Amino acid sequence: MGIQGTVNDWRKELLDMLNELSNEGVTKVEWLTAQDEVVCPLCAKRDGKKYTIAEARKELAGEFCKPTDPDDRCRCTFLAVVD
Ligand SMILES: [Zn+2]
Repeated sequence: MGIQGTVNDWRKELLDMLNELSNEGVTKVEWLTAQDEVVCPLCAKRDGKKYTIAEARKELAGEFCKPTDPDDRCRCTFLAVVD
């Protein structure tokens, strides 16, 4: 396991982020990728899409991110959506 971690580490980070937002009262998030050429096709499909916290958690199931460069990692983040 390299310093970049694994899909399980990224998932944990993103789930932590969702939990924090949820604790702050956020119910919807916008999925943001790093928006560069290294973003994996799986995450690119979600860029700018809005999800409820529950939907976002579901998106993170399984191998949700597959960087094309093995040295790369998931750099996705969530933006709180205020209705
Ligand atoms: Zn990603």
